[in-house]
Amino acid sequence: MPELPEVETVKRGLEKAIVGKIIADYACDTPKMTNFSLKKVKGLKVIGVRRRAKMLIIDLTADHHILVHLKMTGQLVYRSQKKCLIGGHPIEKSCEILPNKFTHATFTFSDGTSLYYNDVRKFGWVRLYNSKEIVNYFTNLKLGPEPLSQEFTLAYLRQRIRQRPRNRVKQFIMDNTVLVGVGNLYSDEVCYYAKVRPDRKVGALTDKEIKRIHDGIIKILKAAIASQGTTFSNYVNADGEEGAYVKKLKVYGRYGKKCFKCKDVVERMKVGGRTSSFCGSCQK
Ligand SMILES: [Zn+2]
Repeated sequence: MPELPEVETVKRGLEKAIVGKIIADYACDTPKMTNFSLKKVKGLKVIGVRRRAKMLIIDLTADHHILVHLKMTGQLVYRSQKKCLIGGHPIEKSCEILPNKFTHATFTFSDGTSLYYNDVRKFGWVRLYNSKEIVNYFTNLKLGPEPLSQEFTLAYLRQRIRQRPRNRVKQFIMDNTVLVGVGNLYSDEVCYYAKVRPDRKVGALTDKEIKRIHDGIIKILKAAIASQGTTFSNYVNADGEEGAYVKKLKVYGRYGKKCFKCKDVVERMKVGGRTSSFCGSCQK
């Protein structure tokens, strides 16, 4: 599932690729995935690309905004004659045949380049809103702050912990109403960085541990964005789509292997229904 660093990388790549382009054609073959047709967007120009949580917002002229949610298996592919830019869920050979059997929505720009929305399981969507509707949509979701924004302070994190001391660390940092953008993968990495077990109750954390969790969220997401950014900047093959950060993972997906620090075996457990990998020696 694409997490915040992946979506941020798509945002940065798209920003360079499509800002200034004019929509000439739009088609979607799956009605439940979209809420608009070509006549609403034809002739409009892309004026910006933003990200909120794991959603992308493509700003168009005339107060039109396209919101894209990649969900579990969504992928965006921008294609010109010179390059192919892929972001989101890895799907094999995405650049070779386009559109392909997973392509459900296609934007064609007036310069002949295209943006394809591919989705294996069709949980994602592409919708059109005006700015008021966008604000309402985000307000209803009650999203917490962006982890890399100034709102996400240590004081804020402490305050939220006081409100719900019985939450487990992993569940707590994955909760979108606490903060956005920390999914299954990065929550395990943050717990390892902070040296706390993912099933600890947040109310029992020491000040130092809370500080390490706060630092870890910021550092790990920044590092992931930095390494992803290089992977997605140009043509990537199917192997490259996971992004370079995968090589830096300390515990996620490493169950049964040796901890890099203490050489004990990485364990796993369920926390709130999600499988979590951790080192029982390094994390208390
Ligand atoms: Zn260890």
